[in-house]
Amino acid sequence: MPISAADTALPRDVPTDLLIGGRWRPAKSGQRLTVSDPATEQALAQVADGSAEDAKEALSAAARAFFAFRKTSAYQRSAWLRTWFEAIRRERHNLARLITLENGKPLTEALAEVDYAASFVEWFSEEGKRAYGRTIPATGTSRRLLAIRQPVGVVAAITPWNFPAAMITRKVAPALAAGCTVLLKPASLTPLTALALARLWQEAGGPDGSLNVVTSTKAAAIVDAWMADFRVRKVTFTGSTPIGQDLIKKSAAQVQRLSLELGGQAPFVVFDDADLERTIAALLVSKFRNGGQSCVASNRMLVQRTILPAFISRATAAVSALRIGHGLEPGVELGPLIDQAGRTKVLSHIKDALAKGAQLKSGGQALEGAGFFVQPTVLTDVGPGMLVMEEETFGPVVAISAFDTEEEGVALANASPFGLAAYAFTESASRAWRVAEALEYGIVGLNEGLPSTAQAPFGGWKLSGIGREGASEGLDAFLEEKYIAWGGIDG
Ligand code: NAP
Repeated sequence: MPISAADTALPRDVPTDLLIGGRWRPAKSGQRLTVSDPATEQALAQVADGSAEDAKEALSAAARAFFAFRKTSAYQRSAWLRTWFEAIRRERHNLARLITLENGKPLTEALAEVDYAASFVEWFSEEGKRAYGRTIPATGTSRRLLAIRQPVGVVAAITPWNFPAAMITRKVAPALAAGCTVLLKPASLTPLTALALARLWQEAGGPDGSLNVVTSTKAAAIVDAWMADFRVRKVTFTGSTPIGQDLIKKSAAQVQRLSLELGGQAPFVVFDDADLERTIAALLVSKFRNGGQSCVASNRMLVQRTILPAFISRATAAVSALRIGHGLEPGVELGPLIDQAGRTKVLSHIKDALAKGAQLKSGGQALEGAGFFVQPTVLTDVGPGMLVMEEETFGPVVAISAFDTEEEGVALANASPFGLAAYAFTESASRAWRVAEALEYGIVGLNEGLPSTAQAPFGGWKLSGIGREGASEGLDAFLEEKYIAWGGIDG
């Protein structure tokens, strides 16, 4: 059943202003940015469009709040985070609806994202209590040596649109658990979820200034204002590799700590002894979650030649059966791409592959009418030199290529400057170990299409980033070490 305007109406109380020092207010300039539904191209809301001036005020609020927040106990922060977690779970449906409306993903996926986002808040509400230091044996008897861990300071968090809730909680929850105060600049395409989450943090008792949100279309001006100031001690960014590289350069001036979760180009390697049914199920989730717009989305399907025909026919049948439409429509499995630029990129990858000899098995076209939809697509005879093999496609395209031996499959998988996630499918335990150890990636899914989870370290090798999120490493990223030498002890 088609979606009506009433279905897509936003609740009246969705926040649309900046959150600075515990106060909601419009941008100083009075400017507003328009948030649209990518499935209808209709405007959803007008949100404050902050400037460098707003960013600086937010920074001063975060720096002021840090003096008190750093002194709160880990147990107090844990209690606030636990209350925030419970509020997110309680508001699960409202948050998921917001995600679907501003991002386009199907509601079932948006609900899964809210659960995933909440899982980081829960995990770090617990992990924050375990920011242990250590004692170190001294050389003599008159000294005691200790190393303690303390919050790094004010954190600037910059997040993308593809997971409007989870990319925020994966940074903000550990930063708050560590005792840092946060400046958040969410993606300008999906600011509503960020603002709704911030309000829940406030309602959970989060102190004024502990979480500040500056929504803006002037990303570079906001982030430059933060990074030019020594009071920002940590920058945590999820987004594209070119912007991440730019932030590495900008961090030099104030020697800010950096965590970068950047782009991927994930290989999906299928060996001749794989369980094909399980492999195709993993393909659908790793490729079509968020319409292929995920940093860990499988991008290059490398299939051992002996099982290539069987894999192609099963993959084509499964992909062409996917139901495409507005994410709020029941039963929809594939939503639109985020915007026109995203759709143009995906269509250009398909066109480039076909011009260079690939075969189209299914899809390949944009849908007519409103919304940035592209049909779920299967391409075969894909090879080196095609954009689908060299760049992150970020769309619903299964690009299949063949290999003969295990060594060749692994070599092809590693032939990328990116190193975020890789997937391998085999029923042989020995091969699984060999391949997992040989893959030059930060995350390996073995017979698994959805490896991410709050308690495991998530992050990339090579051009895919620096640092880890989730797990105990996710907390370490917001802690500084301090060595204390205590002398003059008698006895
Ligand atoms: P993006 O263009 O790099 O944007 C990410 C964030 O950076 C947004 O908030 C954006 O603001 C902001 N930004 C844009 N220009 C900036 C600048 N000059 N200085 C500072 N910040 C700036 O990436 P995206 O298109 O939103 O997200 C897709 C990319 O993120 C893909 O490459 C994907 O693989 C990657 N990603 C990686 C992970 C991971 O964990 N490794 C997870 C998810 C996504 P505006 O929204 O206003 O442009």
